[in-house]
Amino acid sequence: MTKRIGVPKDLRDFTEVFAAAGFSCYFVGGAVRDSLLGRPVSDWDAATDAKPEQVRRLFKTVIPTGVQHGTVTVRWRGSSIETTTFRVDGEYKDGRRPESVRFTSELEEDLSRRDFTINGMAVDPRTGEVVDPSGGLADLDAGLIRAIGDPITRFTEDGLRPLRAVRFAARFGFAIDPATLAAIPATLARFRLVSAERIRDEFTKILVSDRAGEGVLRLDETGLLAEFLPELSSCKDVGQGGPHRYDVFRHLVAACDAAPPDTVIRLAALLHDIGKPAKKTEGADGALTFYGHDIESARLAAEALRRLKYPNSVVDDVVLLVRHHMFDYSDEWTDAAVRRFVSRVGLEYVERLAILRLADTSGMGHGPADPRSVLPLIDRVEALRAKDQAFGIKDLAIGGNQLAEIGWPKGPSMGKALSELLEAVLDDPELNTERKLIDIAERIKGKYGVG
Ligand code: ATP
Ligand code: MG
Repeated sequence: MTKRIGVPKDLRDFTEVFAAAGFSCYFVGGAVRDSLLGRPVSDWDAATDAKPEQVRRLFKTVIPTGVQHGTVTVRWRGSSIETTTFRVDGEYKDGRRPESVRFTSELEEDLSRRDFTINGMAVDPRTGEVVDPSGGLADLDAGLIRAIGDPITRFTEDGLRPLRAVRFAARFGFAIDPATLAAIPATLARFRLVSAERIRDEFTKILVSDRAGEGVLRLDETGLLAEFLPELSSCKDVGQGGPHRYDVFRHLVAACDAAPPDTVIRLAALLHDIGKPAKKTEGADGALTFYGHDIESARLAAEALRRLKYPNSVVDDVVLLVRHHMFDYSDEWTDAAVRRFVSRVGLEYVERLAILRLADTSGMGHGPADPRSVLPLIDRVEALRAKDQAFGIKDLAIGGNQLAEIGWPKGPSMGKALSELLEAVLDDPELNTERKLIDIAERIKGKYGVG
């Protein structure tokens, strides 16, 4: 029985523009798959026998986004539709065959070049009929990621595909077909040639999927993880003792799963202990310690994320979270302790650190952490902030200019003085007035050799 799906009217109208000019136009790939799964469709990508310059003549706004691959982006009723000329060997058009056969064979050839059977389907928007030359419908039903054609050949053509297989498996909770799975370790040499940017983008999608932890385990089993994130795979079998039920690797995977699906927080959860293998020490009594692992983990995370070409903002945020993940909030913390904490980590990171802490605890394998163990910290910070209390040098009632006015020379000693004033104010917020801070500054002048 032919399978049909509904294509929204605006998109059907889009393809009518092609039909009126004598071209064919189908929607392909992810949109067909997601419609069949009953999931929201993010982008409708079109495939056509019209060449890019012909598409350009059909619409008012056509942006050449990837002309070397035959892709243009058409603005249509407020959305953008990536439109790609059928990818077939050599010439776009084969003049020897009759039109209708040519459409079908070009469409099928285009589909056969796609990565997985579930991504290799098209829909004819006029009838809603699904074109499925490689068995994508059956694999969708069975929940299988299967390469189109011979998996080793396909993974050798493009080394990113194994990572995409893991990505789609993680997103949909699918299994990877045995032959496709077996081709991953067999083609790692090709995976090594893939650019860091492409790996980063797929890896990020795995991390923010519903089954991030499962995805990471599969990356490890297939040998992919050791290729692009050896710092993480070398946490395997590093035992921790104490309250931990898991080795460092399993703990990191579980923490990542427990974290909300945000790139920075998931990366921080996944990497927060990667410095542990290097810092593991066994005491005379057999107890294990990992002193300094927060600093080492932050260092390794920075290295790994830079290597994967994550933007600086992501690297900085993750590194900060990893660096400061070791704090033990309790209701006994004084307000001064809360202010010191905020001053150390930065106001903008408090909430994410609290969330990371919960994920870390949940990742120990004793069930989900109690949010009450750390979320009150956020409320207390909020309350102190509402009272306009100082957390940093920029919140002080005086700055360098006022210090200069009382004879303080610009330079490192001024910075040290401001830090000392902040320390005083963190202890006692009442001191944060211009008069009181000037008084203190006068008193500590001697210590800094200021006359
Ligand atoms: P998403 O919802 O994540 O965008 P998608 O299926 O649209 O999923 P894309 O990466 O946007 O994934 O790719 C669009 C389509 O292009 C895929 O469905 C697939 O048919 C094809 N494709 C993408 N990358 C490759 C590749 N490396 N090799 C072969 N075909 C690919
Ligand atoms: Mg897409």
